[in-house]
Amino acid sequence: MPELPEVQTIVDDLKKRVVGKTIVDFWTDTPKIIKKPSLKEFRKKLPGSLIVDVQRIGKNIVFTLKLKTKKSSSDSNMIMLVHQKMTGHFLIGNWDLKKVGRKTIVIPKTKGPISSDKYNSYIRMIFYFDNGTQMALSDLRKFAKVILIPQKDADNLKDLKDLGPDVFSKKIDSDYLYSIFQKRKKAVKPILLEQQVVSGIGNIYGDESLFIAGINPLTKSNILSKKETAKIINSARKVIKKSLKLRGISSSDYRDTYGEKGGYDKVRFVYDREGLPCRICQTEIKRVKIGQRSSYFCSHCQKLK
Ligand SMILES: [Zn+2]
Repeated sequence: MPELPEVQTIVDDLKKRVVGKTIVDFWTDTPKIIKKPSLKEFRKKLPGSLIVDVQRIGKNIVFTLKLKTKKSSSDSNMIMLVHQKMTGHFLIGNWDLKKVGRKTIVIPKTKGPISSDKYNSYIRMIFYFDNGTQMALSDLRKFAKVILIPQKDADNLKDLKDLGPDVFSKKIDSDYLYSIFQKRKKAVKPILLEQQVVSGIGNIYGDESLFIAGINPLTKSNILSKKETAKIINSARKVIKKSLKLRGISSSDYRDTYGEKGGYDKVRFVYDREGLPCRICQTEIKRVKIGQRSSYFCSHCQKLK
């Protein structure tokens, strides 16, 4: 699943590539991705809207859209929230639609990885812009989520309202996290992944952060000291910054808007490296299930307290 570095990389690309463009048309063969409003309303409202901003909030991509009404005031702005979930990612390029019987086949016209990498071939939605370019959502597993609502209702949207502070927010400090850790008596790793606690961290960077901090993912949160808590925060920020520079991790489905892979997989410490030697001490990386999710760690560098 795309986490902070992957979502931010896409948002930074989109800021350069789609802000200032007007959406003139829209296609999907997977209407279930649109959660709000109905497909009919979505199709009615979206065309003619100008993209004025794109931002990342947690792991969500939030487009600010200005509708082309006669009395355009900021009251008529809409937001389109997209959560890419497990395998979704936006691509910019050109695609043709071809009817074959009752099915529509999407044919990429853009050369390079958009055409050649199969992870870019699961096109579920296409947004058409006034300058002839297109923005497509590729999503193998079809879990992505799109919501279009008036901007004035954004504060009440559960997806945004329930989010905790961003990992880079000043609100995230050792006092904040320590008090949460003290109240809970479960393994630290799943708490770190709760978006209500800290937004932006998922399974990949949760494992990587704990490795750098030298904390075993199974450590009970309430036995962590304030110093160890601070170490986790600093490690998370460090590893996320590093991954941002490398444009994210593409060991799975994630690609950037050019269809290109990120480079963090090559330098990752523990995530998805079961059986491989630790980059620091050569001990074999272990995998353990915590809740439903796999956690990877080095039993030597991350001794259980
Ligand atoms: Zn090690």
